Amino acid sequence: MELGLKGKVAIVTGGTEGIGKETAAVLLREGAKVAICSRRPQAVEATVAELKGISGDVLGVPCDVAKPEDVGRLVDATVQRFGRLDILVNNAGSTVRKPPQDFTLDDWNSVMDLNLTGAFLCARAAYPLMQKAGHGKVINIGSILSLFGAPYAPAYCASKGGIVQLTKSLALAWARDGIQANAVLPGWIDTELTVTARNEVPGLNDRVLARTPAGRWGVPQDLAGIAVFLASPASDFVTGAAIPVDGGYSAA
Ligand code: NDP
Repeated sequence: MELGLKGKVAIVTGGTEGIGKETAAVLLREGAKVAICSRRPQAVEATVAELKGISGDVLGVPCDVAKPEDVGRLVDATVQRFGRLDILVNNAGSTVRKPPQDFTLDDWNSVMDLNLTGAFLCARAAYPLMQKAGHGKVINIGSILSLFGAPYAPAYCASKGGIVQLTKSLALAWARDGIQANAVLPGWIDTELTVTARNEVPGLNDRVLARTPAGRWGVPQDLAGIAVFLASPASDFVTGAAIPVDGGYSAA
């Protein structure tokens, strides 16, 4: 069995920063052709220029994953450039940090639209191509907050819990099409998303270090191996799983 990614085509949403950028880089290194997206055209352009240092088979598409028409353009541009779609990494995500009672409906909707509806829209747009090809890999990025609650992140926790259930539903619906859908649940990872929390929330850094059995923050590279595994034929009998990559956080 050939376990590599040579010739495979992937989309990584939110591929201009943190975990998404590192995932795009590792998929390129392993031989895949990769389309990345984020909302900011300049960030997309700069990241594509950087990733070209790994491989020329990289495409950038400015896209808001919460908008169905943008998602359609992303998938169309990927197929136009690379001719197929084998792997979808639903990585784009963010949070609004407030207690539930201070949440406006707009706060709530913005997080749910990005973290949960965006993943649904991308998976739905990818399905016809994967179904026709007879194979496909959907990798949804959840969080340890798919499992635990957090008093300052009600919409984030609800959306990331939802990601696990969406993943199971996609896995069941599409198993006979040869499509596997799995979720990755990162622990506390040092990225743009957490750097502000680390600076703004007193004691957070110490709590993360004390609560994480590995005794350190994760780095985006810690998510590279699971991405390659879930993108490759090595995981062809793995579907509907939600796999923590968290230095032991969820085991404790
Ligand atoms: P970053 O904030 O570093 O990067 C987020 C990326 O998503 C950026 O490229 C951003 O670009 C993009 N993005 C944001 N909104 C949209 C949108 N509407 N449409 C398209 N792209 C968008 O995040 P991380 O790398 O830290 O997180 C990546 C994923 O991992 C998220 O789903 C997050 O919830 C999850 N995660 C992260 C953890 C951590 O500790 N860092 C822990 C657990 C889970 P732009 O602003 O240009 O749109």
